[in-house]
Amino acid sequence: MKTLKVNIVTPDGPVYDADIEMVSVRAESGELGILPGHIPTVAPLKIAAVRLKKDGQTELVAVSGGIVEVRPDHVTILAQTAETSEEIDKERALAAKRRAEERLQKQSPDIDIVRAELALKRAINRLEIAK
Ligand code: ATP
Repeated sequence: MKTLKVNIVTPDGPVYDADIEMVSVRAESGELGILPGHIPTVAPLKIAAVRLKKDGQTELVAVSGGIVEVRPDHVTILAQTAETSEEIDKERALAAKRRAEERLQKQSPDIDIVRAELALKRAINRLEIAK
């Protein structure tokens, strides 16, 4: 079976590097399923899971935005943050979710709503992907 090389990289370094059969990402324009031989493209990503299929198993990596660059035999994801499901600290994500929810409930002019909403999205994404 043909495979694709997938690299997920953050400013802190590489997070994932493997040959896989299919990768799905949530682009701003919608879900993008990528198989070997896909036409080259670049797309911005949402805060979501990257799904990596190999040997009938699906691995999940939480990414906070970024971009995906697709070439026929290689997919590179450059993300601000990325964690595999095993790396996610659930307690930390739960605490971040609670903090963001509290900030959003306060409705004070001191609260940066967009920032709190993004923090909430990152926390929910991590909790959905954590093992
Ligand atoms: P927190 O408030 O807990 O820091 P955050 O969403 O603001 O959450 P980020 O700025 O997205 O955190 O990430 C900062 C760094 O911490 C990144 O390297 C990211 O991979 C890591 N990180 C954040 N939350 C978690 C988590 N729940 N489990 C593991 N690593 C995490």
